[in-house]
Amino acid sequence: MAALVPGAEDPRSPLVELSHVEKHFGELHVLKDINLTVGKGEVLVVVGPSGSGKSTMCRTINRLETIDSGVIRIDGRPLPQEGKELASLRAEVGMVFQSFNLFANKSILDNVTLAPIKVRHMDRKEAEDLAMELLARVGVDSQAAKMPSQLSGGQQQRVAIARALAMHPKVMLFDEPTSALDPEMVNEVLDVMVELAHEGMTMICVTHEMGFARKVANRVVFMADGRILEQNTPEEFFEHPQTDRAKDFLSKIL
Ligand code: ADP
Ligand code: MG
Repeated sequence: MAALVPGAEDPRSPLVELSHVEKHFGELHVLKDINLTVGKGEVLVVVGPSGSGKSTMCRTINRLETIDSGVIRIDGRPLPQEGKELASLRAEVGMVFQSFNLFANKSILDNVTLAPIKVRHMDRKEAEDLAMELLARVGVDSQAAKMPSQLSGGQQQRVAIARALAMHPKVMLFDEPTSALDPEMVNEVLDVMVELAHEGMTMICVTHEMGFARKVANRVVFMADGRILEQNTPEEFFEHPQTDRAKDFLSKIL
């Protein structure tokens, strides 16, 4: 099978960098001095209690949310506030959400071809070939003509991954991609993520799937109250959490 990530580079040069990032929602200080570097090909798992800022941090990386101060760089380039350059940098960041977010009134095939045609100006035939190839790789090519509501949650989430990959992102963000799924569908989505990780995709995954973290994460980042409190290998983090917050968190989820 061909690689999902053609040309994935292995040297661990920084691909995503957050430096002194601050974010408020009104009075609420939701990201506090976030410093994070993700190397090319690295797989980061982000964990932490609900409300700790995990989703907001992901959303700042593709500018679904602005930041108050600090800098976010993608492949060395600071994310601009707006304009063409923002659109092109944003296209380098794929995102998969908890709720599948497919366009409900478009077929599975059209869901995947839309952005390559509109943003990358790919011609339809080329976009459809690419979409079918990606849908096959995530195992849902036989569903291409259907509408999203005709697919199971696990199938829809795999389409969402194929849709993100169609833009050839340099990094993929996953925000609790399996937490809205029925339990029997969790593994079919995690398996695609594991495969992507093995093929060298740079990934930031908010997930409490500890099996996934232990299997593929290079690093676990623990957030609480808007701060990164710990960063460590999965083995070290799960076996020897350093802070009381992390110990407390792990005692509740393990
Ligand atoms: P997590 O993903 O770790 O559960 P979030 O990033 O979703 O945390 O939320 C962090 C905090 O910011 C929470 O207190 C949440 O209620 C708040 N929050 C998130 N999005 C918004 C928003 N758009 N407006 C106001 N508050 C928000
Ligand atoms: Mg969240």
